[in-house]
Amino acid sequence: MKYTEPVCKLCRREGEKLFLKGQRCFTPKCAFERRGFPPGEHGRDTQFRRRRVSDYSRQLREKQKARRVYSVTEKQFRRFYHEAARRRGLTGEILLQMLERRLDNVVFRLGFAESRPHARALVSHGHFSVNGRRTDVPSMLVRPGDSVTVRSGSRTRPYFKDLAAAAETRTVPRWLDRDLKELAGKVVQNPERTDIDASLHEQLIVEFYSR
Ligand code: SF4
Repeated sequence: MKYTEPVCKLCRREGEKLFLKGQRCFTPKCAFERRGFPPGEHGRDTQFRRRRVSDYSRQLREKQKARRVYSVTEKQFRRFYHEAARRRGLTGEILLQMLERRLDNVVFRLGFAESRPHARALVSHGHFSVNGRRTDVPSMLVRPGDSVTVRSGSRTRPYFKDLAAAAETRTVPRWLDRDLKELAGKVVQNPERTDIDASLHEQLIVEFYSR
């Protein structure tokens, strides 16, 4: 089911900034900066309470965090996990690589959106093409050699007109190549573990699903 509550609650729940709101995350208006305790009636109390944290709780929180960082539903996340588990290699690492190769994440990583939820909306509205073909599927997985481009029909919109200047300030990971003049990007190689958020502990996610 799609999450429709205020996303800042997710950061407060996970106890760290997940950067789901673009520029606002870097300002003093960030809800986590202002209220860095869990949401809800007793949230402030739990901030000061020492609790023994069970293995299950740690595994669950890590899974939820990863799911929220990439803004995917439980169903999609589980589907990705089972797909990763079928492949040869380290399941946790393959899972993160798959999440990273999602089209909405690639649009975000190219600097064409302010956050992953924003990238997801832009893709859903059909503003991008992959290898010259229009697509509105945020969960599509890109591969090395694929090109991701803002569609010509979308370039006249105010957001895309100013995009090159805005995107210039955002760095691009080395597994992607960006052409700001063309508002396009190319997948150079598969992302490696070092290209992916180091704060995610994929082993805990694997343990969660292996229980
Ligand atoms: Fe999280 Fe960004 Fe909201 Fe701060 S502003 S709580 S980082 S989504």
